[in-house]
Amino acid sequence: MKRMTTIPQAELIKCTNCSSYDVCFGDECGVISYAIEVLKQYEDTGLTPEQIRELTERDTAMEINEIHVDEYYCPACGAENNCDQDVVEDNFCPRCGQRIKVRED
Ligand SMILES: [Zn+2]
Ligand SMILES: [Zn+2]
Repeated sequence: MKRMTTIPQAELIKCTNCSSYDVCFGDECGVISYAIEVLKQYEDTGLTPEQIRELTERDTAMEINEIHVDEYYCPACGAENNCDQDVVEDNFCPRCGQRIKVRED
């Protein structure tokens, strides 16, 4: 994908603190160069905001609600996964990759 966050591109953006591009890119302000730097880092991930949200959700541990001796149900996809004597050792669902944790009562 073509990079969209370039410094020349920033000339099109006007910072509300500064009267001109030159002032903003001087040492005084830096608002736009900071924003461009942050956007560059985002572009470098190669991910869409939607993908980042999905990954964040998948990496946020969900509590397992049902454990039955040798199987438990993934709270995200409902898969029946194996466990041993009510002890779940998986940190992630083998089917969907959701981070999971055992409820602490
Ligand atoms: Zn500025
Ligand atoms: Zn799952």
